[in-house]
Amino acid sequence: MEKLRNYINGKFCAPASRKYLENVEPATGRVYSLIPDSDERDVQKAVDAASAAKKAWGATEPEQRAAILNRLADLIEDNLDEFALAESRDNGKPLWLSKAVDIPRAARNFRFYATAAAQFGSESSVQGDVLNYTLRKPVGIAGCISPWNLPLYLFSWKIAPALAAGCCVIAKPSEVTPLTAYLLCRLLKKAGFPDGVVNIIHGNGPGAGAPIIEHKDIPAISFTGGTATGEWIARTAAPMFKKLSLELGGKNPTIVFDDCDFETTVRGVVRAAFANQGQICLCGSRIYVQRGIYEQFRDAFVEKVQTLTCGDPLKPKTKQGAVVSESHMEKVLSYIELAQEEGGTVLTGGKRARVSGRCKEGYFIEPTVIEGLTATCRTNQEEIFGPVCTIEAFDTEEEAVQLANSTKYGLASSVWTSDLNCAHRMAANIEAGIVWINCWLERDLRTPFGGVKHSGVGREGGMIALDFFTEPTNVAIKVN
Ligand code: NDP
Repeated sequence: MEKLRNYINGKFCAPASRKYLENVEPATGRVYSLIPDSDERDVQKAVDAASAAKKAWGATEPEQRAAILNRLADLIEDNLDEFALAESRDNGKPLWLSKAVDIPRAARNFRFYATAAAQFGSESSVQGDVLNYTLRKPVGIAGCISPWNLPLYLFSWKIAPALAAGCCVIAKPSEVTPLTAYLLCRLLKKAGFPDGVVNIIHGNGPGAGAPIIEHKDIPAISFTGGTATGEWIARTAAPMFKKLSLELGGKNPTIVFDDCDFETTVRGVVRAAFANQGQICLCGSRIYVQRGIYEQFRDAFVEKVQTLTCGDPLKPKTKQGAVVSESHMEKVLSYIELAQEEGGTVLTGGKRARVSGRCKEGYFIEPTVIEGLTATCRTNQEEIFGPVCTIEAFDTEEEAVQLANSTKYGLASSVWTSDLNCAHRMAANIEAGIVWINCWLERDLRTPFGGVKHSGVGREGGMIALDFFTEPTNVAIKVN
């Protein structure tokens, strides 16, 4: 059984505790690797390494950093099959999905920020006889913590801009899906990263994540994960005045108007609800359909959802893989029970799915659609983060806006209509960081990414992330 190691100062090493956690393959329910159970001693070792490396790395020319990031992207692409298989086994997602989306996107993140590093300028202005310009200096050491749903995709989305900006990184992938971050360590030297620039620590949140948040020499934290964890991070980091980027939970609305392109919308809304077993923070889990087409849409939607059968993630025909862990499966199933207690009717799904063969003990859930719930019930207010959505009717545009905004979250939304004016009005009135019109998960990496309300603080993406990982100094020069 493979025993993973931390990567600190350019070397693989065992955790100080010498203890390991079990890593379970969700499709089979079997332990298949061991993960370092790291603690504050490992974080301190990484901080020492990063402190020693940060001056030289921060002083490298952006073109030099860009070349290294591009080489890393090349190496990921060269090893696509190995990375994709590791992601699928670790997370339970279909192999075709990690091959087509997760791993290529991770390579793209490094390429995008390689280019961005070389294009990152800063503002200047002249007022009377004073010239102002802005020096942008790397913050030094960045702490990057990522979740399990899109493991390498989100891990790289954080470390790529940090490295491009000239920061050293101490990063922790989710303990549930550590494998692709581990494989990445094997490529770092080959890509050309000096020792100490990228340090990757494995372990659980309280043991290995918390010491990163609490460390006084890590001035910037980029975190993606649950809202409760984000709240703790904000509280802990505030007295140290750390820079924070928090990408948190969502409960995203999907709004379907009578005048939508029916077939395209059914397809798009199914994908928005169930991609990656509904375990994408951007998934549309509350579907509101205008009354004129409600029944027709609901029936077509349910029929399509019933084609999403669960299967072995390694098989090419599998539409839905496993959910990430047994505890997550239990959580999602408990929400399906709650929905029924709250008066909901399960239109399809509703149970653990059994997959034969090597996956007979795996954590699969039938894609589930629930009707008949109020907007204020817990099922429609709390993030479930699994293959479960609700569907309800609405009458007017005003009602749709009110329903869309009726939770504490504000991450993403999608609106399906052929009326351009309505689309613009909805975009202006929905409280969310992202509004997709007649599409879902279209991502241009230059755009600001993040949420409002309890979905987070700050934005990632484009030059915003480079701003985050640098500190501006205003220089004012009097010109005589
Ligand atoms: P968690 O908040 O449980 O964990 C996220 C990461 O933080 C993991 O690496 C976790 O480690 C670590 N962590 C947990 N506790 C602490 C702590 N006290 N200090 C530091 N680090 C800690 O979220 P999940 O992994 O369950 O991810 C799912 C959540 O992520 C959902 O709410 C989802 O909406 C959100 N998400 C948000 C996105 C966005 O862009 N807004 C994108 C994707 C997901 P470990 O797993 O090892 O315990």
